[in-house]
Amino acid sequence: MRLLNRDDWYEISHDLDWTLSYVEERDAFPAEWTGSGGVPKAAWQAWEEPFRISYRDYVGVQREKEAGVAGVRDALKRAHIYEHLDPAVAAISHFHMGALCMVEQMAVTMLGHFARFAPSPRWRNISVFGMLDEIRHAQLQLLFSHDLLKHDPRFDWCQKAFHTNEWGIVAIRSFCDDWLLNANCVDAALAVHLTVEHGFTNMQFVALAADAMESGDIGFSNLLSSIQTDEARHAQQGFPTLEILMKHDPQRAQRVIDVSFWRAFRLFQAITGTAMDYYTPVGKRKMSFKEFMLEWVVDQHERTLRDYGLERPWYWETFLKCLDHGHHALHLGMWFWRPTLFWKPNAGVSRAERQWLNGKYPDWEESWGVLWDEIIKNINTGDIAKTLPETLPALCNLTQLPIGTHWDRHHLECFESRYDGRTYHFDSDVSKWCFDLEPTRYAGHLNVVDRFVAGLIQPPNLAGALAWMGLTPEVMGDDVYDYRWAAEFNRDRPAAA
Ligand code: MN
Ligand code: MN
Repeated sequence: MRLLNRDDWYEISHDLDWTLSYVEERDAFPAEWTGSGGVPKAAWQAWEEPFRISYRDYVGVQREKEAGVAGVRDALKRAHIYEHLDPAVAAISHFHMGALCMVEQMAVTMLGHFARFAPSPRWRNISVFGMLDEIRHAQLQLLFSHDLLKHDPRFDWCQKAFHTNEWGIVAIRSFCDDWLLNANCVDAALAVHLTVEHGFTNMQFVALAADAMESGDIGFSNLLSSIQTDEARHAQQGFPTLEILMKHDPQRAQRVIDVSFWRAFRLFQAITGTAMDYYTPVGKRKMSFKEFMLEWVVDQHERTLRDYGLERPWYWETFLKCLDHGHHALHLGMWFWRPTLFWKPNAGVSRAERQWLNGKYPDWEESWGVLWDEIIKNINTGDIAKTLPETLPALCNLTQLPIGTHWDRHHLECFESRYDGRTYHFDSDVSKWCFDLEPTRYAGHLNVVDRFVAGLIQPPNLAGALAWMGLTPEVMGDDVYDYRWAAEFNRDRPAAA
């Protein structure tokens, strides 16, 4: 039997759809799931796949990728690469695995929703491949972490983290529950494919992969790069969705993209900003977080907005200013609250590192150096207790991140909204704006501090909070170099020694 060429049968196979006779269309495809409210059914016929692939082709390509990753994995196990890594570099993979592996698993569910409920048969068809991509990503990171578990119990958090109440994980889960698990197909495609995958995952999976390779973490780098080849493909599914929505409800497209862009940015300030500008050894950094953001996210996002007739978000000027600061604020906070982390953060403020930071961020010393000087002084006088927290920081009811961490240290204002008899607190006017657009979407949730105040965390002290977050002594964060980096600042003040 002779096989047909793909182009001979593709057109009929991708449009597999029929008129339902046993059930009503609206029961089989509820608007709450499809998200096509406001867009006529016929309009979805214009949804064209941004790439064409058959199952046979897909499996062939993915098999090659898997063989590539497996080959590197075996070679590295024999070479004992992980055991020789700089501990700050190893911490990046602890952080990444805990923070992102289960996000891949949530993406499986999201693409499963698309495969079942998306308003176009072509979109449903192609989402099956995206779903298989995300299964591969979650499984690869679990496998990689399982290999390394014997070296560090922190790799257990690859699976465990999302089953705990660790505050940073709560922040990520809050975003993912909202946009990956509970949003309708149209909104999720804009928020996740167009905003998170097309923009921000480049930061973590291309830029950080390059830094990891440079720093000798070849396995981690190889894993990230292999995953990104899939992301780059299925992220394109957002474009035909945006194109159709722009014809029927452009205001909704603008709102979904602006809200999800801000929320994703705040998370990546914490995840990628810290790893790139503080944990990666200074000599191995290719570009700063801000430089990567400008090249990989800002330019690209502006181009997408322009190409589809959208405006820049109203908060664009604020966003650009936050690029200079927010991740430094989050890093300082995360290092200070290090017992609440499941990895060991690198302070990253030795003289050489500060010189690099000041070169990349001219206001760094004025805003953040002065605070680190205080910490360094306390370390060098042996007063480590003063560098450790006794309480929890105020948290935002939208991003779940500490208030005072989006901009420089002069922007600590807490924004508020009243809704249904309760006051909600926000880290910025942008987060407040997101909440005020759709208060019912977020209202009722208690953040970690709200729970603390409500007496849901016992005993009501830092130790009680740490236990509630699932942090056990063998994974709890501490300075990754055991404060040795601070000694070079001591030589100038021998009296204090
Ligand atoms: Mn993925
Ligand atoms: Mn993806």
